[in-house]
Amino acid sequence: MQIREYDVVVLGAGSAGIAAAVAAARNGARTVLVEGGPTLGGELLTGMTIDGAINGKGEQIIGGVLNDLLAICREMGGFVAPLNDWRLIQYFAYDPEIMKIAIPQLIYDAGVDVLLYTTAEDVVRKGEEISGVVVRNKTGRTLLTAKAFVDASGDADLCYMANAPMLPDEGPGNPQPVSMMFRMAGVETEPLLRFVQQNPDYVAVGESDAIRGGRTDQQIVDEIYKQGHPCVFFRGNGDLLRGAIERGEMFPTALIMMQPTSPARKEICINATRVSLKNPLEPESLSLAMRSLMQQVRQCSDFLIRNVPGFEKACLSGLAPRIGIRETRRIEGDYVMTREDVLEARKRSDGIAKGCHHVDIHQDGTGQIRIPVAHGGSYDIPLASLLPKTLSNVVVAGRCLSASRDAHGSARVMGGCMGMGQAAGALTAMALRQNRSADLRAVGVDRLRERLLEQGAVLSGTA
Ligand SMILES: Cc1cc2nc3c(=O)[nH]c(=O)nc-3n(C[C@H](O)[C@H](O)[C@H](O)COP(=O)(O)OP(=O)(O)OC[C@H]3O[C@@H](n4cnc5c(N)ncnc54)[C@H](O)[C@@H]3O)c2cc1C
Repeated sequence: MQIREYDVVVLGAGSAGIAAAVAAARNGARTVLVEGGPTLGGELLTGMTIDGAINGKGEQIIGGVLNDLLAICREMGGFVAPLNDWRLIQYFAYDPEIMKIAIPQLIYDAGVDVLLYTTAEDVVRKGEEISGVVVRNKTGRTLLTAKAFVDASGDADLCYMANAPMLPDEGPGNPQPVSMMFRMAGVETEPLLRFVQQNPDYVAVGESDAIRGGRTDQQIVDEIYKQGHPCVFFRGNGDLLRGAIERGEMFPTALIMMQPTSPARKEICINATRVSLKNPLEPESLSLAMRSLMQQVRQCSDFLIRNVPGFEKACLSGLAPRIGIRETRRIEGDYVMTREDVLEARKRSDGIAKGCHHVDIHQDGTGQIRIPVAHGGSYDIPLASLLPKTLSNVVVAGRCLSASRDAHGSARVMGGCMGMGQAAGALTAMALRQNRSADLRAVGVDRLRERLLEQGAVLSGTA
């Protein structure tokens, strides 16, 4: 087997992994980013908004690498806009086609080595340390050795292969459903927003006091109209969708969520499809789900064209590169973040990133739990929730963090994943020692926080 030596291996090139790789490399580590798929960016490429980066009060709570990435998108003339969903959150909308170009630029400019089409299939573990990860691609198997590892695989693959403990399934019911995100172009914003303004009962609005700010539903849909962007959430139990679901014209869903991706193409991203699986890691179930998800894409786009003003001349313009998976394994870390940490907007001296998204747990059919963070504020994500028990030179970032199911339902969104990624990457580089594995716990959270602040992270001063 071929052997390649690095300081840091980052597994997974989703929102967490790209931030981790950039941060590790910028802090001086020879870094390789390993990705099983054909592109960099994971869910950042589907067209969904970056949630969890702006809190309900409009304060930006994730900076650093996220700002650099958005700056590249803007330099390329790409659409980037902080917008209010007038429901629960504020977010960054952007053009995913520009994002596809911006991410490689960010990664290669930082000096990261990239291995696409390459899957991690085993690790070499001795005691509390991992010394290498075995990857496979078309050229065969390679051992990537390193002093520290970031598990940004979403599914905690690296920790799982190292036999680190995972949190038990909490239930009730299946993990959050899987979805196929899609985009439609040629959508006329003005008639769509006028329709929303005339039918406030159709849409989800003002679900957080911080966003509602004492406004009536009618006043909120007037604000949506004034904002002038297609940020619209048709409710599954609202007058428009409920009847369609009952008549079988639409599949059961909690919301049809629309967000802008490109005003130039009059394009929006739509999050509506859903299939509930017992285990979203099983390829057999995912492969079967693909068929239903594609049928749902067609049903939903047809429904919008037939029933919603502004869609008369719209057409399907893009599908996510893969089925979107919300919830799989979560590691058991030194600390397990709780529902209260999130909902009470708790601040901590060992916070290394922030979160602000509501507890957001999609369920089967028309179900979805949505509980806002108190007062539109934000909470701190502690370093301890990224450090897997029994491993000394591995840190996780992204949706496989150590959190209860409720807390995960908030922290899993892409703003927080990028914040965690930046912290994890910087930590690994700071822990490097000559000829020895890195001891990540020895760095000290105060030093890490100092470094993150120097590099643009937001760690304090927000609600
Ligand atoms: C349908 C859907 C809608 C969502 N909507 C939003 C939204 O609107 N806004 C928002 O902010 N968030 C949203 N989220 C949540 C968010 O997108 C994800 O939780 C987040 O992107 C997770 O990032 P990550 O980097 O942890 O993992 P991922 O994005 O899953 O990235 C992990 C990467 O690791 C790679 N990988 C995994 N295992 C291996 C291996 N063994 N070897 C090599 N590579 C491997 C995968 O190919 C993948 O690219 C949504 C999620 C879904 C599924």
